[in-house]
Amino acid sequence: MRVCVLAHCKPPMTKLNCDRLRLQPAAVGVPVKVHRTLEGLLTAVRACRACDAHLPLGPRPVLQAGATTRILIVGQAPGAKVHASGVPWDDRSGERLRDWMGIGAKTFYDEARVAILPMGYCYPGRAASGDLPPRRECAELWLDGLLARLPRIELTLLIGQYAQAHFLRGAGHASVTATTRDWRAHAPRIIPLPHPSPRNVAWFKAIPWFDDELLPVVRRNARKLVYG
Ligand code: SF4
Repeated sequence: MRVCVLAHCKPPMTKLNCDRLRLQPAAVGVPVKVHRTLEGLLTAVRACRACDAHLPLGPRPVLQAGATTRILIVGQAPGAKVHASGVPWDDRSGERLRDWMGIGAKTFYDEARVAILPMGYCYPGRAASGDLPPRRECAELWLDGLLARLPRIELTLLIGQYAQAHFLRGAGHASVTATTRDWRAHAPRIIPLPHPSPRNVAWFKAIPWFDDELLPVVRRNARKLVYG
């Protein structure tokens, strides 16, 4: 029996009985052996059209990962600008995030050093205020398989409520502020952060411990892992 390496299901799923594969016809068509490498899995993710019907601009998965990377950034989902460029964090939020990490764009976009996996890989569209939440299908279909192929991750930055809710499960708090305030409960391997959006500038300025206590740790740890 050929078992899909994406799913950690019990009993193991085959190509004939897997709900995930029924959800994702594009993935079904990819031979299971292709998913044995990170490169093969990334190819399958980039061809994904699982929620085509729900995406106003169509699927365009934006992510990066390399097997040797030691830092993982888990954000929300691409905005319209990132959808257009196809480059993750290619906006003012990304500039602030790179400043928080103390690394330049060249290093940030080196997939051998930094992996970038948002909770949703495609632009989900607009809501009444801001963008819609990331599509849940990405995590359901792909996230476990990708994480299993990133064995050297030593620092995971969880940016915003969706990443924190997924990765921290019951260990987070009700708000991003409270979870971020309690960052020492998860450090040094995991650090929760707010979204570095310009819309949150008032938040950054109002909370002195963020600049004084947390960012120096983020910067020191990130720089050590990419330059050390
Ligand atoms: S949002 Fe995720 S699951 Fe949906 S089409 Fe894009 S990559 Fe596939």
